[in-house]
Amino acid sequence: MEAYDVAVIGGGILGCFAARNVRRWNLSVALLEAAEDVCTGITRANSAVVYAGYDNKPGSRKAEMTVRGNGNYESLCRELEVPFCRCGSLLVTYDGASLPKLQKKLNEGLKNGVPGLRLLTGAEAQAMEPMLRPGVAGALYAPSTGTVNPWLLGIAAFENAVENGAVAYRNTAVTDIEKTDTGYLLKTNRGTIPCRTVINCAGLFADRVQELLFPRSTRLHWDGAEYLVLDEAAPKPRMVLFHQASSCGKGITAVPCVEGNLLISGVRKEIETPFATTPEGLGELHRAAKALLPEVDLTQIIRSFAAVRPNPYREGGQSLHDFCIENPGPGFYSLIGIKTPGLTCADELGRYVAQEAAAFWNAQPNPDFNPHRHAIPKSDDSEILCQCQGITRSEILEAIRRGASTVDGVKRRVGSGMGPCQGSRCAFAIETILEGYRNGTL
Ligand SMILES: Cc1cc2nc3c(=O)[nH]c(=O)nc-3n(C[C@H](O)[C@H](O)[C@H](O)COP(=O)(O)OP(=O)(O)OC[C@H]3O[C@@H](n4cnc5c(N)ncnc54)[C@H](O)[C@@H]3O)c2cc1C
Repeated sequence: MEAYDVAVIGGGILGCFAARNVRRWNLSVALLEAAEDVCTGITRANSAVVYAGYDNKPGSRKAEMTVRGNGNYESLCRELEVPFCRCGSLLVTYDGASLPKLQKKLNEGLKNGVPGLRLLTGAEAQAMEPMLRPGVAGALYAPSTGTVNPWLLGIAAFENAVENGAVAYRNTAVTDIEKTDTGYLLKTNRGTIPCRTVINCAGLFADRVQELLFPRSTRLHWDGAEYLVLDEAAPKPRMVLFHQASSCGKGITAVPCVEGNLLISGVRKEIETPFATTPEGLGELHRAAKALLPEVDLTQIIRSFAAVRPNPYREGGQSLHDFCIENPGPGFYSLIGIKTPGLTCADELGRYVAQEAAAFWNAQPNPDFNPHRHAIPKSDDSEILCQCQGITRSEILEAIRRGASTVDGVKRRVGSGMGPCQGSRCAFAIETILEGYRNGTL
């Protein structure tokens, strides 16, 4: 097999954007994903917020990429035909003692160049967001905050990368890496793939992938978050709400998602089983949600889930707060422990590593790169398979044609199974279609 110029390990949102951006250059690229589909790791379970950029230390890579990434979201989502909503956000506190924290975030946000940021009185915040429990002491308003569907965006970047010539290997886990005179040999469960450059985007396992060849430098410690999803019919705030953690309790985030659901999340420091919810965590979320939004209707919860977050530490214990992009060997780049705001910065990070690879090989821009990808069109086919979301058989067939190989894969592409019945009415029909595809009768 001829060596690829670049091999991207990991098809989460970062790997998909890395591969797409590599194709902006005259470089061949392969994307290797261990799972049977892309965007099934951290990208599948997060808060879906496009951050404004006031949370990051001025001068840091995170601050710079967040503000720039946020500013480019409309054009990015237009190119990839993915819905994006710039709904704004309020960081609210009920605790007068926390107001200096809001002032600090305002000052840092202004230094970072976050547009339109301002402090509100409690009354102003409540007028802006009437669902808030009375008694707000103050709030930080960020009009540039937005929301996006993370896995849909990642899949769109993946499709666009493939349309531009990226070669995808799914069900392909990198198990060993060897250095050669001209690059690297990636040993996988499906054979060896030679390449000249590696971009390691292996998410929760990025540290271990790098250690397949290089000495340990950074370790990922996992913690998590738990989530409640409310039906789109439930009352929801107009904008993203962050409840500043205080002596009175943990902070939560409430996100009116682009699909119309309300997503409520809280952080968990300890996780016993990755991606598993806990009765205590969900109980805390229920209480905290009611404390922030008394009108929230918890009988409208249609799903709960847990997420896992990779926190990077240097060998020796020092925690890393900025994005960690390592270059342990010639032409080998690792994105290690990219947690929040990795979704906001996915394209920025992808551009950055692609540019590094291009500079390494003195590559020229690819004149044929086409940034546009078309969404799966809504069809007026009368055969509706997902009754809750109104998803037709034609849309489901198109999702399968584009690479969905499981009921979940179809869901991530067209939104089937995301309504109140959570797929109990359509999963069997979709599985039957998938079966037909697998055995060639469709
Ligand atoms: C709880 C939580 C909430 C968050 N909320 C936000 C938010 O609101 N806004 C925001 O901007 N950011 C947010 N983030 C950050 C954002 O979600 C992540 O930065 C981003 O999804 C990371 O994507 P990834 O591609 O690195 O990881 P993943 O999506 O996990 O992708 C890594 C992929 O690598 C594959 N892989 C692993 N090992 C191998 C191997 N050996 N060979 C081949 N493939 C391999 C995995 O199967 C996986 O598919 C949040 C993160 C967390 C955890």
